[in-house]
Amino acid sequence: MSILNIIKRLFGQEKSSPAQSSTPQPIEPTQASTPVEEVKDSIQTAMNEVTDNIIEAAEPNPTPNTNHEDYSMHHVIIGSGPAGVVAAESIRKLDPKAMITLIGDEPEPPYSRMAIPYFLEENITEEGSHLRKTDNHYDNKNINVVRDRVSSINPDDKTVTLESNDSLLNWDKLLIATGSHPISPPIPGLDNPKVSNCWTLEDSRKIVEGVKPGSVVVQIGAGFIGCIILESLVKRGAALTVVEMGDRMVPRMLDQQCGTMLKTWCENKGVTVLTSSQVNSIEDKGKRLLVSVSNGEPIEADFVISATGVRSNTAFLEGSGIKVDEGILVNRHLETNVPDIFAAGDVAQGLDFSTGEYTVQAIQPTASDHGLISSKNMVNPGSAIHQGAVLMNVLATLGLISVSYGLWEGVEGGESAELVDTDNFRYIRLQFDGDKIVGANTLGITQNIGAIRGLIQSKTALGVWKERLMENPLNFMDAYVGVTGGHT
Ligand SMILES: Cc1cc2nc3c(=O)[nH]c(=O)nc-3n(C[C@H](O)[C@H](O)[C@H](O)COP(=O)(O)OP(=O)(O)OC[C@H]3O[C@@H](n4cnc5c(N)ncnc54)[C@H](O)[C@@H]3O)c2cc1C
Repeated sequence: MSILNIIKRLFGQEKSSPAQSSTPQPIEPTQASTPVEEVKDSIQTAMNEVTDNIIEAAEPNPTPNTNHEDYSMHHVIIGSGPAGVVAAESIRKLDPKAMITLIGDEPEPPYSRMAIPYFLEENITEEGSHLRKTDNHYDNKNINVVRDRVSSINPDDKTVTLESNDSLLNWDKLLIATGSHPISPPIPGLDNPKVSNCWTLEDSRKIVEGVKPGSVVVQIGAGFIGCIILESLVKRGAALTVVEMGDRMVPRMLDQQCGTMLKTWCENKGVTVLTSSQVNSIEDKGKRLLVSVSNGEPIEADFVISATGVRSNTAFLEGSGIKVDEGILVNRHLETNVPDIFAAGDVAQGLDFSTGEYTVQAIQPTASDHGLISSKNMVNPGSAIHQGAVLMNVLATLGLISVSYGLWEGVEGGESAELVDTDNFRYIRLQFDGDKIVGANTLGITQNIGAIRGLIQSKTALGVWKERLMENPLNFMDAYVGVTGGHT
């Protein structure tokens, strides 16, 4: 099942007759029963299903070859996050005789960072975050999981160096799926033990320890990850102040109107949000920290969380000859400039469906997609072409769903259609290039939102539906069915 189909199914997208309404409809107020929690859970389920279904979509499951002397190829994968795990399992399905080694430098079994908020909210245990939950999953598939860090890649003799004992490991095909790491802004005091990122399970344990009901917490950054964890901190009972450099929340995902409405929503729920503001320093005052901000009184806090963005893990590639820009440069087979070396996930600068440019997307569906495509090309060279990922970010913040799709900021010379209902926290803005939808922002809209992605992905000319959407952008579901017949 494709990611799109999963999203369509989750958001209740059914075929129906196109409605002919061309008059703007009032935006229905958010019902008390709006299934925001269901949507949030659905997102989590969808992401798990994306990974699971991607594997099911591959070839039938053969019995793996367990004779290590008699293997066809040695596939080595660096990084055991979603991209690495999907790739390893897919290789096993495509080549029962392959030897597969999955190397990860975190102490836990392969897990999903997306599950961290659920762990912080104490909805799941640590085991609940594991990508594969059956006992001996990797053994059963004859995938060797190695806990170590790769310190260098040596393309000339086709080896990697393992950090623990400086030993060399040979490979025939190599996948780099090393993900990304949080950026540390140059703030004095950021290295205090009462300051943490929220990127790994280890970070989460620290937060669980340091943030109790009534704790005063300052969170630096209101980007995508910041807004995801914000909800978990509030659920843990923290008195929270969020400090964001941009002039609105999630400025790299939401437009001015949308990001400002989200800020008001959070403030109404008791969170202090300082936008156009920076943390200048963090001073240790014994029991508490004193956090100085650029536009307000210093805050006495029990804990500080830094969520100011991430960067691809590429430092260990120095000297390997592998070309790196924001991430590792790859072609449409996810292969790097060095033959037989591929890259996938947060570390790869892959094709963006909307722009045709190569960017680091740093979201899990893209990581899984990359993992699958790279693995096919590792086993059967040139067999799979990456069509580009449609960037769709879904955020649930204190019960309010906001979404950005594709070119949400619009294109030069393009038109846009907008409906705003500030009282009920409902917003939609569609971006057009000619008579095609190329991007959108939505807030507080949970019904059928997969249809917007469908319209972007299908790149279908809207014909008469363009005018109807200009009059009422909420007609997106009818437009989707009208122009695609429900298929993309
Ligand atoms: C709190 C949180 C919430 C999130 N929520 C969402 C969400 O709702 N939706 C969404 O799409 N995305 C979300 N993300 C982002 C998502 O988790 C990432 O996009 C995804 O994990 C990327 O997968 P990956 O396999 O590329 O990298 P990773 O999951 O980062 O895995 C890479 C692994 O490689 C290891 N590694 C790095 N260097 C080496 C080395 N030299 N040797 C050996 N191992 C190495 C790393 O330690 C890591 O274990 C969230 C992230 C966080 C932190």
